[in-house]
Amino acid sequence: MDIKKIYMNADALLKGHFKLSSGNHSEYYLQSAKVLENPKTAKMLAEELAKQIRSYGLEIDTVCSPAIGGLIAGFALADALGCRYIFTERVEGRMTLRRGFEVQKGERIIICEDIITTGGSAMEAAFEVERLGAEVVAFAALANRGFCRREGSSLDRKPNCKLPNNKPLFALADFDFPMYSPQECPMCKSGSEAVKPGSRGN
Ligand code: ZN
Repeated sequence: MDIKKIYMNADALLKGHFKLSSGNHSEYYLQSAKVLENPKTAKMLAEELAKQIRSYGLEIDTVCSPAIGGLIAGFALADALGCRYIFTERVEGRMTLRRGFEVQKGERIIICEDIITTGGSAMEAAFEVERLGAEVVAFAALANRGFCRREGSSLDRKPNCKLPNNKPLFALADFDFPMYSPQECPMCKSGSEAVKPGSRGN
């Protein structure tokens, strides 16, 4: 499965000259919601992810996603794994389990995002369900931005990855694009101007 091609075809992987929220420049920008606007694609990607998780031998009771980014990917993954699905959401800045969702003591949970960047939101969701007694056994995402190490990848973990070392991360691909400071950006040097994703309706 060529994930990059699937993202490209869905206009979820934009090529250009982008100014990221960190201030760095990149030739690529991921608009991961776009790849999930087709439910059949979402389902197909989730099936592939579920296959990885099953062959690893993990028992999962529940998929939990941090809203909003992880909602669709997590729902599709829960469907593929045949398990329960819940989500956490931010209330006054704190990731919280609401809407009557409950977890049991020892319930085995996988946290699912669309894209794992440094894993910050995923960790907040993990802390919340563990605070309530569940056990987070793994993390999952459709794609890994290249800061954390996913199972089966030769890419090393970077110092800014927030996910724990001792729990597996499952993802379908690494989107490890180079980022440049504006001073070092080769696209700036060649005279092009960086645009903020969103400034053209992205
Ligand atoms: Zn630039």
